[in-house]
Amino acid sequence: MADSGRYSVLFEPVKIGPVTARNRFYQVPHCCGLGHLRPRAHAAMRAMKAEGGWAVVSTEEAELHPSSDLSPYPEQRIWDDHDIPALRLMTDAVHDNGSLAAIELVHNGNHSANLMSRAPVLAPSDMTVDLIYPKQARAMDKTDIRAFRQWHRDAALRAKKAGFDIVYVYAGHRMTLAHHFLLKEYNDRTDEYGGSLENRARLMRELLEDTREAIGDQCAVALRLAVDEMMGPSGMQASAEGREVVEMLAELPDLWDVNVSDWSNDSATTRFQPEDGYQTAYIDFVKKLTSKPVVAVGRLNSPDMMASMVRNGVVDFIGAARPSIADPFLPAKIRDDRIEEIRECIGCNICVSCDSFGIPIRCTQNPTMGEEWRRNWHPEKVPAKGQEQDALVVGGGPAGLECAMQLARRGYEVTLAEAAGQLGGRVVKEASLPGLSAWKRVADHRTYDLSQRGNVQVFLDSKLDASQIAELGIRNVFVATGSSWRRDGVGRSSRAPLEFSDNASVFTPDDVMSGILPSGRVIIYDDDQAYLAGVIAEHLALLGSTVRFITPASKVSPWTEATLEQSRIQTSLLHKGVDILTHKQLRKISADSCEVACSFTGQTETHACDAVVLVTERARHTDLFDQLRDQGTDQFKPATLELIGDAAMPGLIADAVYSGHMAARDFERDPAEIAAAVFRRELTALSGT
Ligand code: ADP
Ligand code: SF4
Repeated sequence: MADSGRYSVLFEPVKIGPVTARNRFYQVPHCCGLGHLRPRAHAAMRAMKAEGGWAVVSTEEAELHPSSDLSPYPEQRIWDDHDIPALRLMTDAVHDNGSLAAIELVHNGNHSANLMSRAPVLAPSDMTVDLIYPKQARAMDKTDIRAFRQWHRDAALRAKKAGFDIVYVYAGHRMTLAHHFLLKEYNDRTDEYGGSLENRARLMRELLEDTREAIGDQCAVALRLAVDEMMGPSGMQASAEGREVVEMLAELPDLWDVNVSDWSNDSATTRFQPEDGYQTAYIDFVKKLTSKPVVAVGRLNSPDMMASMVRNGVVDFIGAARPSIADPFLPAKIRDDRIEEIRECIGCNICVSCDSFGIPIRCTQNPTMGEEWRRNWHPEKVPAKGQEQDALVVGGGPAGLECAMQLARRGYEVTLAEAAGQLGGRVVKEASLPGLSAWKRVADHRTYDLSQRGNVQVFLDSKLDASQIAELGIRNVFVATGSSWRRDGVGRSSRAPLEFSDNASVFTPDDVMSGILPSGRVIIYDDDQAYLAGVIAEHLALLGSTVRFITPASKVSPWTEATLEQSRIQTSLLHKGVDILTHKQLRKISADSCEVACSFTGQTETHACDAVVLVTERARHTDLFDQLRDQGTDQFKPATLELIGDAAMPGLIADAVYSGHMAARDFERDPAEIAAAVFRRELTALSGT
């Protein structure tokens, strides 16, 4: 138990209607790209949270009817009884670990385009669907509203049958019918469901009453409500209608799950919301208006912040999506006084991006996330070592750090050599850019862990070559030497190097991140189209350069749509005076200008500049690996030689961590077994009907 009762308040049981949570840690509903398509993976992932000490573990949103069909995104589904067995996998697994299971019933209104079901799309008023698709939702008439209430009630009964303890009515994120009815912007009805706040809240009230009436004897009824849209007076505000709704319905739900809307505000990245606990100022009024327990989120990583939020009467439950993804064992670590071992969420939203792409969840900090069933990975347990005694990891970036840490946990004598004067590789570099300082937690967590182990030796300022590795004589070598940004302009739009005049002033992101800076009129050319060019543009603009951002894409950093940041990034650059040119490909770079061509017509234009930063593609650092692999037999030849991280495949930091983790786990594993079991898949069974 945590020392001196400092955090003991977090481990008190809390009653939620007819059920009781064993402590105050509450994994709120969050999407995961597993959903109804990957039920075993989903159940195992949720079970891991329960094992890690979360007293309540929720599903993602669960579509309650075919007219709420989010295809192609795999959320949860409870359309009819056929969905119950898959959901049972989760509730059984969560119960086996002593926790309560919650389900977030949803009808997505015009947020679901019903592309698979082809059912009519429903909304409070006539309006287009949310997705860019030529389709409109129809205003629900009274028959539709009655039908919807019946579907919700039936889904609640199915949820009870599937074993859930808590059933949600969901009015948040601008993604649900209950929320759409509540918001003036969506609801222009003139009947008793439109107009006054009381009327707009009517449907939500009815859903709460229906749900309680159907299942409230055994299950708790939760309301998830966005109390503020962070749009000022043009949206719902906690100081106005948000508060009035809570006053109006104060005692109706068994639990208030309150947050801010839309999703990009709720799951804000550290780049735009650097402070953990950033939602507190919007939700702290709720508990004063109700006697029912309250849960809230906002990247709550710090146990001290959690304990003070409970002690100060802000919340009853510590809600988490991302901190529970980054560390499913966060509650257990607090309970066992292992605070330093917590893998803190860095707020990068790589987890969110998986939902955007409809793929299984992954996390930068926790490489086992989403792999609990597929690869049988446990975030806290790795198999003990086999016959080999030692291992050398070359390169202390995210791949090398994770690999070294897991090898050490397995029990090997680990030597980690890093060329630079500090550990962290690209993480430390990228974390030096505006808004990304929290990313350093990836290196900090692993550096701390390694420092606590007696079987690890770390050498800084140690750039190793093949002969030095031979001298060391360590037979098992993991090469994590990373990559660097190309200086020749090769990228998505040009597979050949660009044309440069001799005196062209060209920089790469590595230059900028190392403090070698361009000045004057700077062109950032973004053919990477992910996140880095946008951050570098911001960095240089803040340092006083006149920045022009040129990209073949249609917007700045288009990939960051997936992390819910794109519009913030573009807005921020515009506010900083960055001139943005889209659909343009760079052709030639001279000392005082660049030639660019329209992506469609090829028509060229020239832009004056003093320097260009090329953000295009990365080159892998494989020299060391190649030398070790190709050495003659009379020289030292490692028994194990693995290329990992960006040196093997430049990608996200999450990919580098994953690669290091996998290499450490697979070390000494039977190669035939590795080859045979890439990962387990959930295949569609042919039932014969
Ligand atoms: P990854 O994302 O794959 O971990 P990084 O580029 O972040 O890659 O990190 C690679 C690290 O490897 C860098 O910190 C770099 O200094 C280090 N490195 C590269 N070559 C060597 C070498 N020959 N010996 C020791 N360290 C090296
Ligand atoms: Fe946090 Fe990033 Fe992991 Fe998501 S992917 S849980 S934001 S560290």
